[in-house]
Amino acid sequence: MCQQSIELGIELNIINHGDSHIYFPHIHLHGNPIHALICYINSELNVRNVGVIKSIEISRDSETFGQFMKKWTNPY
Ligand SMILES: [Zn+2]
Repeated sequence: MCQQSIELGIELNIINHGDSHIYFPHIHLHGNPIHALICYINSELNVRNVGVIKSIEISRDSETFGQFMKKWTNPY
């Protein structure tokens, strides 16, 4: 959508989850207007499929905001 080159950061606890035969979905929020890249990633950390999500809703509660800030500062 925005033609940006996106570098993905996957948390280690997701990588080590154990479902090695299943592609796991990962989303990367960015841009103005905000949108998301959804990537399906295999156990070798190769991106197998991607899509763009333009419709995004974020819950307006303190729990979600706290988690958002935690993600924001997470170095993976
Ligand atoms: Zn984008």
